[in-house]
Order: sequence, then C-alpha cells, then structure tokens
Amino acid sequence: MTGTKTYDVVVIGAGVFGVWTAWHLANRKQRVLIVDSYGAAHSRASSGGESRIIRMSYGRDEIYTRWAQRSLVQWKELSAATGPPLFQPTGVLWLAGEDETRLRESAATLKRCGIRHEVLEHTTLGARYPQVNFAGVSRGLLEPESGVLLARRAVASVVEEATWRRARFAIAQILTPKGNKPLDYVETSAGERYSAGQFVFACGAWLGKVFADLLGPRIFPTRQEVFFFGSPPGDARFAPPALPTWLFQADEVYGMPDIEARGLKIARDTHGERVDPDTQSRLATPAGAAWAGEYVARRFPALKDAPIVGTRVCQYENTSNGDFLIDSHPDIPNVWLAGGGSGHGFKHGPAFGEYLAGRLCGELPEEPRFSLASKATQQDRTVY
Ligand SMILES: Cc1cc2nc3c(=O)[nH]c(=O)nc-3n(C[C@H](O)[C@H](O)[C@H](O)COP(=O)(O)OP(=O)(O)OC[C@H]3O[C@@H](n4cnc5c(N)ncnc54)[C@H](O)[C@@H]3O)c2cc1C
Repeated sequence: MTGTKTYDVVVIGAGVFGVWTAWHLANRKQRVLIVDSYGAAHSRASSGGESRIIRMSYGRDEIYTRWAQRSLVQWKELSAATGPPLFQPTGVLWLAGEDETRLRESAATLKRCGIRHEVLEHTTLGARYPQVNFAGVSRGLLEPESGVLLARRAVASVVEEATWRRARFAIAQILTPKGNKPLDYVETSAGERYSAGQFVFACGAWLGKVFADLLGPRIFPTRQEVFFFGSPPGDARFAPPALPTWLFQADEVYGMPDIEARGLKIARDTHGERVDPDTQSRLATPAGAAWAGEYVARRFPALKDAPIVGTRVCQYENTSNGDFLIDSHPDIPNVWLAGGGSGHGFKHGPAFGEYLAGRLCGELPEEPRFSLASKATQQDRTVY
C-alpha cells in the first residue's frame, strides 16, 4: 500500500476498535492517520468508561473465546510497555441460574482452548464469597486469570504506542463519503481533505449516523446506565482480591469489585432505549438509581444503604445478534465498516485490530460472522 496518497489508511474513530486497527497497521509500517470528532475514548464514546470486563466465556461461540484469549496477551504486553497497570486480574465469575446450558458450554470451550477455569457449586460460592447473596444461583464458572481493563486509559495508551510507530492523530469530524467509486480522500466538516488508499470507519454508535441508509437500520444504539457504590469505611470485602468481577446470567446484571477506589460497579446488560450518541443525557435517571440500590442491597446485604459515589451513561452499539461488523462498503470498495461491539466488544480490541489490519493488507480471508450481509434489521440477540 504505497503511492502518491498522504496515507495508506485513514482510521475514522479513536475508540478501542479504531485505535487497535491503527496500532496494527502502524506496526506493519503502514502510514496511518487516526481521526476523531472529539478525542480518544472521550466521554460520549462507548470506549470512554473507566473499566471494562475481559472474560473468555462465550458459551459455544469459540471465535470470541479465542479472540479474548489472543487479546488478553496483547493487553498485557501493552500494559507492560506503558505506565500504571491497564489490566487487573480480579478473576471473572459467570453465575448460572436454573438454566446451566451456557455454563456447561463455556466450560467445554475453555477446556478446549486451554484456559484455566473452575466450576463452583452453590455451597462453595457461599463459603468462598460470604459477602454475596447467591439466592437463585445454581453454580458459577470462575476464570481466575481474567479481569478488568482500565478502558479509557488503555485506549489513550494504544494511541500513544501507535503514534510512537509514526501514526498521526487529528481531531476532526469526517463527512459521509458519497458515490460508488473508490475514494481518493475523505473530507472534514471544516473543509480539509485527507487522502489515503483505504479508509476505516470505526465509528461505534455513530456508524448508523455516518452511513444512515446502509447502517441506520442495522446498528441499534441503546442507553446503558452504570452505578458505583461506596463500601463502608475500612471494609475490604468489596475490593479485589476478596470479590471477583461477576456476571449473573439470569438477572442480566454484571458488576466488578472496587477498582482504583472508584466503588463497586454495577449495571444491567439488558438493552435500554434507543439513543443518539451525540445528544443523549449523560445523567443517570432516578429510576435507574433506585433499581441499582435495590439490587445491591439484595445481592450484597452489607451494602444496603451504601451511597452511590459515581455514575456513567454510555451506549451499546448493537448489531442484530451481537456479532461484530467488519466488512468493506458494498458500493465503495476501499471503505471499511468496523464496529458493532454490542456491549461486549472492548476486550476484543487487539484481536479486532489484528484481523482488520490483516484484511486491509489482503492477508486474511473473510469471517462470515462479521459480514454486512449477516446483519439484519431486526434485533435478535444471540451473542452475550
Ligand atoms: C456501559 C458499557 C459497558 C460495557 N462493558 C463492556 C465490558 O465489560 N467488556 C467489554 O468487552 N465490552 C464492554 N462494552 C462494550 C465496549 O465498550 C464497546 O463495544 C466498544 O468500546 C466499542 O468501541 P468502538 O471503537 O466501536 O466505539 P467508540 O468507542 O464509541 O468509538 C467510536 C469513535 O468514532 C468517533 N466518530 C464517530 N463518527 C465520527 C466522524 N464522522 N468523524 C470522526 N470521528 C467519528 C466517535 O467520536 C468515537 O470516538 C461496554 C459498553 C458500555 C456502553
């Protein structure tokens, strides 16, 4: 990929998918420009949270287990190469209710992939984590080597490492490309042009705004509220290593222990209302706060009446079933569509970027699950 163009690739979007794609391209000595309307992992981006879970369990969806496994290696390498740790090995505990199908399927996949794990019976869970009320939980699947990524900081580190490999970074809003011929350049809302051989639109929830006709009906941005609860003074039971990160399938709720003293994090994994990522309110609702308070009081009795010490409001950028979108534009062959993280994408940033860089360089075959053709206009979630 050389020629008279200023860049080999312009990556639009400095969320986790865009920056890791840029990193992998820059690592292959490609000339890369990363552009974002607001900045890397900013407060409106899906990648802009404090923390994200990295787990390997995906039921029978082995492709995501292998990507998470591959990504964890790269996250750890990044963490070792940069400043304060970007990964905290809290352990991740998947909790099953009456239906244990997914737990069994995940355990089989983890075994096949050589990932350390432990199945814990209800009584063992209660004995090991007495600060949790496991009512309705049958068994748990513990991944002791998984944990939490310090998301916003990690994205900033990837940008730093990519620019160290000669990638460039600019703040600008890129306009929707038009026509049905390969693009020579993209244009910014301020009238600047960036020329390149290929263009990656890793625009998260904005994909449906940038490509309104094509992706408006295929990317479903939903509002997601997150709450942080303060522990009682001097009480370390809600911080690592006493409490792992956890997901309770039957409740569709997940949380993590008190990381960097921000408080016990809790959120619903159910999809909220459809929102616009530029304009949705970033203030948590009283109804959301009331739900979170009740849930925490039930599952962590010692935190009944614990104060909410922080909130975040973000959006998932769901595809119809939760599979990622990584494909070329049907009309503009040198434009790539990259996103659809669907509430589980952050952990996969390194493997996502590696795959897309491989596709751009013509080295990797297409994975049908990531194709545009597989993305429906009705939601039917199957990937969790
Ligand atoms: C509350 C919450 C909890 C989550 N928890 C987890 C978790 O525990 N584990 C996990 O693995 N995943 C989790 N996820 C999912 C994960 O965070 C996302 O899938 C991932 O961050 C998506 O990254 P992205 O790069 O596609 O999008 P984004 O991070 O949103 O980045 C897209 C970027 O594109 C830019 N952009 C858009 N349009 C333009 C334009 N025209 N010109 C220039 N720039 C543009 C935007 O400004 C933005 O910065 C969670 C998500 C949320 C919201």
